[in-house]
Amino acid sequence: MKLKYDLHIHSCLSPCGEDTMTPANIAAMAMLAGIDVGAVSDHNSTRNCPAFLEAAEKAGILAVPAMELTTAEEAHILCLLPSLAAAEELDRYVYARLPPVKNRADVFGKQLMMDAEDGVIGQEPHLLITATSIGVHDVAGLLNDLGGIAIPAHIDRTSFSILSNLGFITKEMGFEALETTRGADFDALAAAQAEVRGMPVIINSDAHRLDDIFDAEFELEADEISAEGVIEAIRKGNALKRL
Ligand SMILES: [Zn+2]
Ligand SMILES: [Zn+2]
Repeated sequence: MKLKYDLHIHSCLSPCGEDTMTPANIAAMAMLAGIDVGAVSDHNSTRNCPAFLEAAEKAGILAVPAMELTTAEEAHILCLLPSLAAAEELDRYVYARLPPVKNRADVFGKQLMMDAEDGVIGQEPHLLITATSIGVHDVAGLLNDLGGIAIPAHIDRTSFSILSNLGFITKEMGFEALETTRGADFDALAAAQAEVRGMPVIINSDAHRLDDIFDAEFELEADEISAEGVIEAIRKGNALKRL
């Protein structure tokens, strides 16, 4: 079945994610926007995923556990996971490879961990936006081992993208799908990146404010309404644009 998606949304745990971006608010907003499947993908953390999954279930939408991982090269990679257990495993792996730089709440925001009822359950002390020691060539394999998928994020952006920071995407990096912003020039990207021409592309909001969450616009075709079903659909490129 066709599912309208927005799989890249930041909660109040992300630096620069507004405090109103609670898991409950995101789920409610996504539901109002007509989204069938959403994902909270905070920088280098999955700790607001449990609350988002619970809130999404109450709102009647599907949630996919997710993270936006910052590689050693400062390239952002959207990671989608089949289960909370896999998300926790990725969280532990990434957190151990994050430099212990203290967050400055006055500059970057409070990095709030929430429950599904808008209750604050903690504050992340380490700045989550910093680069991990995980290399860009290792992310696809890492996610594969967890049953998930690694997707280079907003490749058409001029900062924190694999193309802005490395200049190219090669087949040996192992990625099976890409993400662009809504305004991306597919022809130019495909011409410049011959190795990944034909690869499935998802388009997400990368919302940091509630208003940024996409109205139902982009869809994928999943065999099964589950996180695994969504990951499989992206891997196969069902109903997705291709570069
Ligand atoms: Zn990003
Ligand atoms: Zn993002």
